[in-house]
Amino acid sequence: MSTHTPATRATVGTAFRPASAAAVGALAGAVARLHLPGDARYAELTVTSNITKAVRPLAVVEVTSPDEVSATLRIATASGVPVAVASTGHGATETMADAILVHTAALDELEIHAAQRWARVGAGVRWAAVLEAAAPHGLAGLCGSSTDVGVVGFLTGGGVGPLARSHGLSSDTVRAFDVVTGDGEIRRASATENPELFWGLRGGKGSLGIVTAVEIDLVELPEVYGGAIWFDGADATAVLRTWSVWTDLLPEEGTTSIAVMRLPDMDPFPEPLRGRTTIALRFVWTGDPAVGEEMIRAMRAVATPLIDAVGVMPYSAIGAVHSDPDDPMPLHESSLLLDEFGPDTADVLVDLVGPDAQTAQAMVEVRQLGGAVRRGPDSAFAHREAAYQVFAIGLMIPEIAQVVVADSRRIVGALAPWARDGGLPNFTDTAGVGWARRVYSPAVAARLGTLSRRFDPAGVLLAGRGVRD
Ligand SMILES: Cc1cc2nc3c(=O)[nH]c(=O)nc-3n(C[C@H](O)[C@H](O)[C@H](O)COP(=O)(O)OP(=O)(O)OC[C@H]3O[C@@H](n4cnc5c(N)ncnc54)[C@H](O)[C@@H]3O)c2cc1C
Repeated sequence: MSTHTPATRATVGTAFRPASAAAVGALAGAVARLHLPGDARYAELTVTSNITKAVRPLAVVEVTSPDEVSATLRIATASGVPVAVASTGHGATETMADAILVHTAALDELEIHAAQRWARVGAGVRWAAVLEAAAPHGLAGLCGSSTDVGVVGFLTGGGVGPLARSHGLSSDTVRAFDVVTGDGEIRRASATENPELFWGLRGGKGSLGIVTAVEIDLVELPEVYGGAIWFDGADATAVLRTWSVWTDLLPEEGTTSIAVMRLPDMDPFPEPLRGRTTIALRFVWTGDPAVGEEMIRAMRAVATPLIDAVGVMPYSAIGAVHSDPDDPMPLHESSLLLDEFGPDTADVLVDLVGPDAQTAQAMVEVRQLGGAVRRGPDSAFAHREAAYQVFAIGLMIPEIAQVVVADSRRIVGALAPWARDGGLPNFTDTAGVGWARRVYSPAVAARLGTLSRRFDPAGVLLAGRGVRD
């Protein structure tokens, strides 16, 4: 048996140790910032927000230019070593064992073109920085519930944010990507340049290339009417039943989600919400605030809130609507898409996770989709038609870890009568073929597979494996 991996092999496979050593040795001479296991910077760049998803790559290349991304891909291909990409570690799904990790933290360019309402954003930039830079111009970028998330990681997964129903899928605002495809070529992808690649990068995550910068439309939106209202768990049935009917009538200017929470009795959680079951109603209205206030009146009237924090707010504070924790934690995540969420579904959810239920989930959230998400250009995001998404998070502390997993299956099973096949790329935390089957329709997966063979002929990109196997 050969002890090295030939540079000409058709597909990059599991690396032999000599191949790994060769790749790391070649990278040391080709890139400025190479971090190896044991280095402090390696440790910093491999932190994941879900600590059950630890990543342990052979080496981390902290790229400073598209040329370095290209060099890394070519060296890895020649050595038969796969390549992964990350910017914040918020969406880690693979262990990256035997792979080189391209980390984009240093690609931090950020330009706001206020007059033309667009931004150019480096692949290492988080949404918080874009919002801060755009806010003085009264402009907004369509981020997700947490502004700590990376712009490119979010957009390549479609991006369903707190303005999804009024403004659509965030990836629909992408004008162009600068990307290094798996073959090491530096390319631009837009509606007119490499349009097939442009199609695939909006939903295809890192399966076709490593994005180095993205150009996005900004919307004129200095303020929104929105926030969260927290109810006691004892009101769960009334709140969830009303929400199930209210969402059917809510115009597209309103985006909403509701979450049954069991927050631990500790800081930093606000005192009225700790150590008990609560219901968080999230609402963002992008039309006239007075109309938004009318719209939320029916929900406000259901029960006496523990906290009512809905009002006019600067768009730059949009992260407060969901108040997602950003600290690393051990999490189990599960999700499913629904075609409907009516009063019957609400009752089942209360039985499953309401105040009297035995559940190991810290949060079970239902997001209403629809509205402008259903429209927009054709892209590799495959589930525009879903009406709702359910997303459950359990804390994987050793004493209850097995129960958390079984409990999440119980929830998914009980909601099956209203479910539809599929999952959203940004909320499906598996990897490989299983991930691709869940996230893409067969037609989208096949088209991505064809593009992967064209733009990454050696199959060097770890994220492409799901669509080409
Ligand atoms: C607290 C929290 C709230 C969230 N809220 C939402 C939400 O409201 N809506 C939503 O849609 N998602 C949401 N997400 C999911 C999030 O959008 C995904 O996890 C996303 O992949 C994170 O991207 P990242 O770059 O921050 O993470 P990373 O772990 O650094 O990257 C995750 C993946 O993104 C892709 N990627 C990253 N950089 C590049 C690149 N340069 N080129 C190509 N691919 C790349 C790769 O596939 C990579 O594996 C949330 C996540 C968290 C942790």
